[in-house]
Amino acid sequence: MTQPTEPIEFSVAADDIVDRFSGNNAITAAVLNELQAICETTSSAESTTEHGRDWWPLAMHWALSGKTPRTPGAVCTPTTSSQVSAIMSVCHAHDLPLTVAGGRSGVCGSAVPLYGGVVLDVTAMRGIVSVDEVSGIVEVLPGTFGPDFENELQSQYKLTVGHFPQSFDISTVGGWVACRGAGQYSTRYGKIEDMVVGLEVVLANGDIVRTGGAPASAIGPDLTSLFVGSEGTLGVITKVWLRAHPVAHFQARASYVFPSFIDGINACRDSVRNGATPAVLRLYDEIESKRSHGLDGTQCTLLVLDEGDERIVKATLDIVRESAISHRGKVGDIELVEKWLHHRNDTSGLQALTRKGYIVDTMEVSAPWSKLESIFNGVRSAFMSAPGARSASCHLSHSYLDGACLYFTFAGDKTETVEEHYIGMWNAGQRAAISLGASVSHHHGIGINRARFMQESLGNAMQLLQGLKSMLDPQDVLNPGKIGLTTQRNNGKPMWP
Ligand SMILES: Cc1cc2nc3c(=O)[nH]c(=O)nc-3n(C[C@H](O)[C@H](O)[C@H](O)COP(=O)(O)OP(=O)(O)OC[C@H]3O[C@@H](n4cnc5c(N)ncnc54)[C@H](O)[C@@H]3O)c2cc1C
Repeated sequence: MTQPTEPIEFSVAADDIVDRFSGNNAITAAVLNELQAICETTSSAESTTEHGRDWWPLAMHWALSGKTPRTPGAVCTPTTSSQVSAIMSVCHAHDLPLTVAGGRSGVCGSAVPLYGGVVLDVTAMRGIVSVDEVSGIVEVLPGTFGPDFENELQSQYKLTVGHFPQSFDISTVGGWVACRGAGQYSTRYGKIEDMVVGLEVVLANGDIVRTGGAPASAIGPDLTSLFVGSEGTLGVITKVWLRAHPVAHFQARASYVFPSFIDGINACRDSVRNGATPAVLRLYDEIESKRSHGLDGTQCTLLVLDEGDERIVKATLDIVRESAISHRGKVGDIELVEKWLHHRNDTSGLQALTRKGYIVDTMEVSAPWSKLESIFNGVRSAFMSAPGARSASCHLSHSYLDGACLYFTFAGDKTETVEEHYIGMWNAGQRAAISLGASVSHHHGIGINRARFMQESLGNAMQLLQGLKSMLDPQDVLNPGKIGLTTQRNNGKPMWP
């Protein structure tokens, strides 16, 4: 069974770690006893300090100075939906915040228990429950990690869901759904929301509900989608039904180089709009083409990979080739795809820079094709205009009929005032993206880091989200203070920034 990879190590022992967000974390012995009577529960420093953080890059800097964002009072590890429901009741009775945690690989602080309370670690609820092989539907528990899930599905059932995020090894099925994630093969298999058939959810009042279950039904609004992307603020996902495909037996690859990023964007757009949806269609700007793929710094590279039925794959690659050539593309080195496959999940380089004190983070947004050129130029410039900025680069990572995801990587100088510079770079990049017509996020979600951009992005539709929260969780127990939702905890004052 896979165990989560730890983020950057703390610079001090567990007992000496302090919280970045202070508050009363204590849970009384009596409440601890109530929780322990339901399932495995601990308040040890080792567990609570680790469960006080996720992979938010700013939290990595705090770890280097002996801080975690916020330790919970207790970590509960249920194994059944009924135990989740019982823990929920205890949290309600004592007005304790409850934050769900999967692999804690989120990069926006969404699994951080911002107001203390209980962390509900679902990673003991794991494994495939059943497979409907005729329909290709798999029922899986939320705490199942990527490799455990796909290994069993592929080896025993010759099926794949096709969801391979870069964090595949360290993230869980429930986390994929809760954050509305995207895998690297999403142009063929879709984003996680395209894969979910239905969910079992424990609501804040303790009820266990089932949503979905049949394809494309018309039984009022889609209740499954309420919880997809809700980041633990509306309910706890305790079971997931996903669509699965036959494992592919044929694969083909290609690579192209373009004189400009815009030529490459146009080639991706024409490919997809003409019906070609290769699993991988990744276009790198001149900076990333040089840094990651060894090009000369003036050209942009496109990596293409598809898999499935040979006839469809060949036709797909033909369409991509035509689209590339018609936008000044030239055939590139096909070995680059192989190299990418080997290194695609290795982020040790970014961690090494963080350890040295540099600010490094990524920001992914999505937008219609017609806006991508101005977002590409505007956001790179905005990052570079922020104080202490060192570099900003971009690649196009996921394509759709109407638009694509642009994924920016940015870095700032070493500084004594990491937090201030970090906030400045995010404000510059994210506000430029929103003003140019991009969504706040494509797949990393919102968490703490991006909460301040939700109102300006959603406008008065934010009231709709706030209304749903008030209706489903009137006591504000579930993951308070996240995704821009208001909370009366801490006297209504935002904890960050
Ligand atoms: C190196 C790296 C690369 C990454 N690459 C990608 C990528 O390619 N694509 C992508 O989509 N993401 C990527 N991410 C982000 C992250 O891995 C995803 O958001 C992932 O889906 C989170 O899953 P998790 O199990 O780690 O969830 P956690 O981080 O534990 O939780 C994330 C949020 O979901 C909530 N949650 C978790 N489980 C449940 C549940 N069962 N019920 C209700 N709420 C729940 C939590 O409360 C929290 O708000 C990357 C992260 C890292 C560190």
